[in-house]
Amino acid sequence: MNLEADLGPDGAIAQISRLLDSMTAQPGFDRRRIHAMVIGVPGPVSAEARTAPWSRVGVLPSDLAEQFGMAVAVENDANLMALGARHDHPEAASLLFLLVQTGIGAGLILSGRLHRGLLGWAGEVGHVPVAAAGDMPCMCGNRGCVALIAANPALMRAISKPTQPVNTLADLAHLVQSGDIDAIMALREAGRHIGEAIVGLVVGLAPEAIAVGGPIAEIGNHVITGIRETLAQRTPPAISSQIRIVAAQDHDRAAIRGATDLAFDLLFPIS
Ligand SMILES: [Zn+2]
Repeated sequence: MNLEADLGPDGAIAQISRLLDSMTAQPGFDRRRIHAMVIGVPGPVSAEARTAPWSRVGVLPSDLAEQFGMAVAVENDANLMALGARHDHPEAASLLFLLVQTGIGAGLILSGRLHRGLLGWAGEVGHVPVAAAGDMPCMCGNRGCVALIAANPALMRAISKPTQPVNTLADLAHLVQSGDIDAIMALREAGRHIGEAIVGLVVGLAPEAIAVGGPIAEIGNHVITGIRETLAQRTPPAISSQIRIVAAQDHDRAAIRGATDLAFDLLFPIS
């Protein structure tokens, strides 16, 4: 289920409560049998507290656990998708899940385990500077971050024309699927920029597979084609010829599978 940001603590708890009520109103759902809740959020989630910054909502998992009487975990959304994508790539001990949407994030599986890094910042590749973004200021405090030119809002602005406005992802998908060459080239160019941003990560960690998900990445193969082009040009052939770069198909499903794994770990921790 989707939770709106900017709710404030009381608003967040109230909305989660309403969503739980609507779920458990369905036949076969008994709220007393729900033992764990996993909440995926954009942006880094600190490893020690698993709390902040949770967008601007500001509720601690412990608050939610007390309120709802169940185990609660908060996790970065791309991290959940990386955990879920392991099921599609059981042979890959190292996996990079790239999520392209309002921002650009990545979940990293290394030696079969999720790697969160310092303050949960591992995989925040949307904040890697690329040349084409120049010195545009970013909300992270740096300049020239790739998300400023390759995430969904920037792409929709770039493709939009007075005669053909692109206000929604559905507008964008329609243009691409109808063969609009400007829209297709913009997606491919975004893929090239994203590829540039992950060159260091790919050479440094040499993941066996890269799964790319998110609404625009799942409209045809255009974003992935751009990523492949840059990695083929900018990484050693020994890596670029072997690494598997694939579409995630359904990033929401990957998140649900990852959240299920995390809930299982919450309820049955390995001591
Ligand atoms: Zn940034």
